[in-house]
Amino acid sequence: MSYLKVPFLDLKATPSEKSQLLSSIADVLDHGQLVMGPEIFTFEEKVASYCNRNFSTSVGSGTTALVLALKALELNPSDEVITTSLSWIATANAIALNNAIPVFADVDSNLNICPDSVLRLINKNTRAIISVDYTGKLADFVRLEKICDAHNLFLIADASQAFGAQRGGRVSGSYGHISAISHNPMKVLAGIGEAGSILTDDEHLKNKFDILRYNGTINKEYLLEPSFNGRMDTVQAAVLIKRLCSFGTLQQLRQANASLYYQYLSSVDQIKLPHIDVDETHALYTFTVIAERRDELMAYLDSVGIETKIHHPILMCDQTPYQKCVHESTNASILREKILCIPIHEKLDHDQVLHVANSIKYFYNQ
Ligand SMILES: *Cc1c(COP(=O)(O)O)cnc(C)c1O
Repeated sequence: MSYLKVPFLDLKATPSEKSQLLSSIADVLDHGQLVMGPEIFTFEEKVASYCNRNFSTSVGSGTTALVLALKALELNPSDEVITTSLSWIATANAIALNNAIPVFADVDSNLNICPDSVLRLINKNTRAIISVDYTGKLADFVRLEKICDAHNLFLIADASQAFGAQRGGRVSGSYGHISAISHNPMKVLAGIGEAGSILTDDEHLKNKFDILRYNGTINKEYLLEPSFNGRMDTVQAAVLIKRLCSFGTLQQLRQANASLYYQYLSSVDQIKLPHIDVDETHALYTFTVIAERRDELMAYLDSVGIETKIHHPILMCDQTPYQKCVHESTNASILREKILCIPIHEKLDHDQVLHVANSIKYFYNQ
């Protein structure tokens, strides 16, 4: 195989995007409201509207969004929160930081939390479920919502990876009592630094998020309950407003790359591509394949210039502080040895995507 450099991500702005972003940053420098400037509220309205939600609260990161989502529920130390075994560690940390007990459910073949596993783990101490739309594919919300209704549990959707995903017209960010989104630079709707959003339809919760994001104060004076400073910078909101406007283009470019992968790789028996239903849009945060001889494939792709990643090599329940937590992870333990994220980002050109596809084919045929 020939050699062609294919970076996993490219976070440099294109010249045209750079000039657009610089102009919105200049606006912030001109009005001088560097925190909680008008762009924060405009972004909140726009992201809530995009996600079909009544309310959004802009915060400093996706982790902050998750921590404050749970903090608003006022959990007790004996309360259990069930989440998936396979996610970025922020999901489990949000539970532990709220002094509640994380419980880890297994995943399905699509890498998302398995509703049957959740059902087995529910007990009298269970208060909430945090689902994750892993890789950008929506979790099974039909079943998760039913389970939460039947057992009187809060559903928090960690939609960090799934901005723009939808199923049957219902978009990511609209599921659960609360959804949390990360806008860190790697995510699909990305700031130029750390940023996040908390979405809900419940006005009482919205008011609480607004208080909790600024040290738990009302009007910056009266302390309701101790919290921390979790606000988003105005420049991030200004950038995110611009990027939300052009989000459709980014999504199309990623979908086009995915289509090429399906066209070229569907016939390769040794790798399984993400399953996408006809009424579903995958956010394509990552394009995660389940690959035989994964580590060998990864090394081979590296040797022909292709950068790949494993999101995530260690299950959350296997991380040292969580090893004693109750968990089901049979399927997750098998899959974590096979998952591989191949480049999908919007700055790839046709030749680069073909190089990835052809190199994978070549590896399995040789
Ligand atoms: C990125 C991510 C987070 C954390 O978001 P940050 O903005 O990096 O704090 C939480 N959960 C999931 C599933 C993520 O992918």
